[in-house]
Amino acid sequence: MTNFIPYGRQFIDEDDIKAVVDVLMSDFLTQGAKVNEFESALSTYCGSKYAVVFSSGTAALHAAYFSAGIGPGDEIITSPITFVATANAALYLGARPVFVDVQPDTGNINPELIEKAITEKTKAIIPVYYAGHPVDMGPIHEIAKRYNIVVIEDACHALGAGYKNKKIGSHSDMTVFSFHPVKSITTGEGGAVLTNTQDYYEKLLMFRTHGITKGKFLNESDGDWCYEMQFLGYNYRMTDIQSALGISQLKKLDLFIKQRRELVKKYEKKFTGNPYFDLPEEKDYACSNWHLYALKLKDRYKERKAEIFKELRRKGVGVQVHYIPVYFHPYYQELGYSKGLSPIAEDFYQRELSIPLYQGMKDDDIKHIIKVIFETFKSYER
Ligand SMILES: *Cc1c(COP(=O)(O)O)cnc(C)c1O
Repeated sequence: MTNFIPYGRQFIDEDDIKAVVDVLMSDFLTQGAKVNEFESALSTYCGSKYAVVFSSGTAALHAAYFSAGIGPGDEIITSPITFVATANAALYLGARPVFVDVQPDTGNINPELIEKAITEKTKAIIPVYYAGHPVDMGPIHEIAKRYNIVVIEDACHALGAGYKNKKIGSHSDMTVFSFHPVKSITTGEGGAVLTNTQDYYEKLLMFRTHGITKGKFLNESDGDWCYEMQFLGYNYRMTDIQSALGISQLKKLDLFIKQRRELVKKYEKKFTGNPYFDLPEEKDYACSNWHLYALKLKDRYKERKAEIFKELRRKGVGVQVHYIPVYFHPYYQELGYSKGLSPIAEDFYQRELSIPLYQGMKDDDIKHIIKVIFETFKSYER
């Protein structure tokens, strides 16, 4: 099979290419005007006061946690059904991730289990918008307020999604996005933190560039050349080349999501009521951007997922599994996390199978995928 359809991929057109080439021909490849322009476009799109872009979603998470004051000895509460970056960013700062089990249907953190996990050391709750489906934030904000805890949304999957009829990006203290090529829009590598809080905004800007400021000095200024490094930051800057691509991509985001919704309808039309797997659904409080299309295999097929996975890939359908629970990884096991911690998440992991879904997917591809999926599951019926 030469034709391999991946589970997700970017869509790049002539406008995107021109935007990048224009920057290459200009005076500034980095630290120019495009970065600010991309940041304002993001905050306008999401309805937040501020946006700060970073070299990756992981760098953006690291910066958000730092700005929230997370440090050695602190705990953060998050979901085990996520990419390792969500938890790793806490480890970078000497904090400990505490995993709370998920809802069996959405795969998002279960708000009802959060309060039990709160201790004196809890600094932040970091819900993950699994597959681009918003988390029910109402109950989480209520708990966070009562305990005076920061809420940072890992919305790396979910740019353009909506919660209760409002775009996400300004519901919590901070919201983090990723622009990796499989995400809703891309800058090659890249990420952003959105916030309405000026104090976080200033820390995010400094963290991105070594903890340096040219604004409010602690010492007296020696002259106009002065800058001050006030804490230990990193070089987490995004280039103007990437920002120009981001600006161009963002203009197409609503169209991308519209296309994804149409593709989802096609899957639903063929797959509803099938005996092999359950389909993902949207809750009434949520408008998903459908970053992933995550099937949940029924018992008989869950047992044989490894074989089915191999067979689908062999036939050119680029399935993937999202995610191995974070604490299953050897590094986390070494840190003392043990299997059995989040039974619903572990069952979710065993059942989950992501099938291809992305903007620009061809009609022939989707027909092929549906045919191959039926054919393959049928061959495992007994
Ligand atoms: C992609 C992703 C990240 C990390 O983003 P990068 O841009 O790849 O660093 C973090 N969290 C989740 C849930 C992601 O899917």
